Amino acid sequence: MTTAVEETLVLIKPDGVARNLTGEILRRIEAKGYSLVDLRMLQADRDLLAQHYAEHEGKPFYEPLVEFMESGPIVAIRLAGNRVIEGFRSLAGATDPTTALPGTIRGDLARDWGLKVQQNLVHGSDSPESAQRELALWFG
Ligand code: GDP
Ligand code: MG
Repeated sequence: MTTAVEETLVLIKPDGVARNLTGEILRRIEAKGYSLVDLRMLQADRDLLAQHYAEHEGKPFYEPLVEFMESGPIVAIRLAGNRVIEGFRSLAGATDPTTALPGTIRGDLARDWGLKVQQNLVHGSDSPESAQRELALWFG
């Protein structure tokens, strides 16, 4: 266990914004005790999304994922705290909203809509390397 302060990139995806869950998701993040360092709402273009999701290029859900992510505004958050990368992933819950545990953002607030992509409300960086790379992409 390390206690160095970390930063992570959190995205409230277009489904979260469209469903008016921005406040609820920010409430959970703040109630947990993490610090909002920076926050912006933007419409992501394909170039940004291709870089963000480069690791998934070629997978069956890649095209639907990029189309979904460019379908509406996204809220991007620079979030700070000790072990925040792991901590936010834990708050978010499993990728698949059907099996994400109750008590998590995805488990409580998302479901399967029968679409080609899992609309699971949030993104969180999965490692220190990803966090650094993704924060540079979304916040420059
Ligand atoms: P995350 O880190 O939990 O967001 O999951 P990944 O990095 O593995 O995947 C990125 C995003 O692609 C997920 O959040 C989902 O929106 C979508 N996704 C991932 N895996 C699948 C899958 O097997 N099927 C579908 N339909 N969508 C997926
Ligand atoms: Mg991921």
